[in-house]
Amino acid sequence: MNLNSMEEIVSLSRREGKKFWEVVLETDMENREVSRYESMEKMAQTWHAMLEASQVYTGERRSTSGLVGGQGKLMYDYAATGECIGGEFLGQVIGEALAMGESNACMRRIVAAPTAGACGVMPAVLIPLYWRENIPEEKMLEAMYVASGIGAVIAYRACISGAAGGCQAEIGSASAMAAGALVFLKGGNKDQMCHAVAMALKNLLGLACDPVAGLVEVPCVKRNVIGAVNAIAAADMALAGIESRIPVDEVIDAMGEVGRRLPVELRETALGGLAATPTGKAVKKRLMGGKKKRTLTIKDTRWKLEKPEASTEGGSAVEEPAEAPVT
Ligand code: SF4
Repeated sequence: MNLNSMEEIVSLSRREGKKFWEVVLETDMENREVSRYESMEKMAQTWHAMLEASQVYTGERRSTSGLVGGQGKLMYDYAATGECIGGEFLGQVIGEALAMGESNACMRRIVAAPTAGACGVMPAVLIPLYWRENIPEEKMLEAMYVASGIGAVIAYRACISGAAGGCQAEIGSASAMAAGALVFLKGGNKDQMCHAVAMALKNLLGLACDPVAGLVEVPCVKRNVIGAVNAIAAADMALAGIESRIPVDEVIDAMGEVGRRLPVELRETALGGLAATPTGKAVKKRLMGGKKKRTLTIKDTRWKLEKPEASTEGGSAVEEPAEAPVT
């Protein structure tokens, strides 16, 4: 079985009397040629890495650029005062999303789910719920399989990287994965799961990828918050019986189509959106300020050069490569 469509997974699980997560687990066993135990062990490692990343966060680190750091801690502290407009739980969700996004920017170990830039969405909705409702670990692993299956379908039918499809493909996909996992954890059925995935993705359709200075910091860290909060809203709507009028696979296809039509300036090139604002440009200038054109002088004749004329005594100027966005 390939995880090509949500509809297929749901139909197969109904036909064979299996849970959604079991179909995803069995597909993993088949594709990677591993036993059930090996597959589950790998998923447990991933879940534990997510928990650990959350537990070791202190808010003391700052990213090299200085743009990011400490926001998660500020939010946790604020949530603890009981003053959060959305209540303490939502405050924790926001704090967790910020903390994980920050951890990525500050070079801490995180779980890319589905990408490093969107690493805060899944833990932001899963971890506070895990602690609040004392959910058994096995159930959390099953939810992780649900999310993985959703992510695999999105990757197959559309895309999951900002460079390919904009931020809708990263934060949007993470949000859809999280929404499906939440519906599962709250006892919703497979149809509700599909509606939640569809609604989460629809709500973020068209979101540009515009990282300031090409760094996965601004607006990335805070976009994890909107992915998490959107996932909760989509899951709650689905559990309340609200349906997506557009079927989930069609929504995923639409996301892929929108992504292909997004101009290149809005696909992780840092040439448009927030990256192209006066402040975004000023930040980039400040960060790049110390870097000058490098002059490469090649004198060592042991190096075999394809273009010997380039190795003149005077040397050749090498342009700084275009900044590669980190994802
Ligand atoms: S703006 Fe781009 S780099 Fe940042 S999280 Fe979104 S997709 Fe990733």
